[in-house]
Amino acid sequence: MVISVASGKGGTGKTLVATSLALSLKDNQKVTLLDCDVEEPNAHVFLKPVFTSSEAVSIPVPKVDKEKCTRCGRCAEVCAYNAIAVLGEHVLTFPQLCHGCGSCSYLCPEEAITEEPREAGVVEWGRADGLEFVHGKLAIGEAMAPPVIRRVKQSADNQGTVIIDVPPGTSCPVVEAVRGSDFCLLVTEPTPFGLSDLILAVEMLRELNIPCGVVLNRAGVGDDKVEEYCRKENIPVLLTIPLDTDIARLYSKGVPLVEGMPEWKGSFRKLFDRIGEIVDERNRSLKR
Ligand code: SF4
Ligand code: SF4
Repeated sequence: MVISVASGKGGTGKTLVATSLALSLKDNQKVTLLDCDVEEPNAHVFLKPVFTSSEAVSIPVPKVDKEKCTRCGRCAEVCAYNAIAVLGEHVLTFPQLCHGCGSCSYLCPEEAITEEPREAGVVEWGRADGLEFVHGKLAIGEAMAPPVIRRVKQSADNQGTVIIDVPPGTSCPVVEAVRGSDFCLLVTEPTPFGLSDLILAVEMLRELNIPCGVVLNRAGVGDDKVEEYCRKENIPVLLTIPLDTDIARLYSKGVPLVEGMPEWKGSFRKLFDRIGEIVDERNRSLKR
């Protein structure tokens, strides 16, 4: 089962939930944690993995042969990202905008475009306290997160449980990270900002047809509008974590919640069982 852990906004406790869920399950099954929050990966701070290998991830960007190019403009026409432009006698490329789709080189009538790799980031593999651990790190100044996320996700071998720490928000990297998940846990807090971003995240998951449930973190800090919304939209609130200075202290020291407070392990195991039931129920109803 692939469970992604996402949040409409940053700082809601997404990594706290992903790491604690992984650590609560690892004694009974194979668990792989993929940190796809490649702009700011921080699961390693909590899990302290020993890395055994790494690989650079690159994007193939176009290189134009001026001798062969006739300035016909076909490449600029087909590029959906405005990463290549023909201005008079010049063909300009903007590697930072290029998604490496290959359309320009494939469709250039003069075969004037070759591709050269541009490094977008790095993926590292390791083990952490009985867990398989993989994370991606975007190169400084790099905006193209999806290729790095895709490479991290290719590491999952579909055995046991895979937990994905998703980037915050609802943009392309988030879609790339949650795509293909059996279930998505949305971590939020009971505040107006938490609710507004939760609504966007739910809409995104409905478009992707991925079932979801909510983890309410820092409960007690705001109002009950998030619970009201979940009731109205039929979204289960699967776990509530209170606003608690001891939990905050552990987090600030980089100690996973279930390590500092092992009594939480049972709650995370129950959370996992409930997710399993929801996924099974859904699969059964899809078969009918
Ligand atoms: S499609 Fe090829 S020939 Fe035409 S402008 Fe682009 S690089 Fe030059
Ligand atoms: S590879 Fe794709 S995204 Fe990059 S410049 Fe060519 S058409 Fe545009």
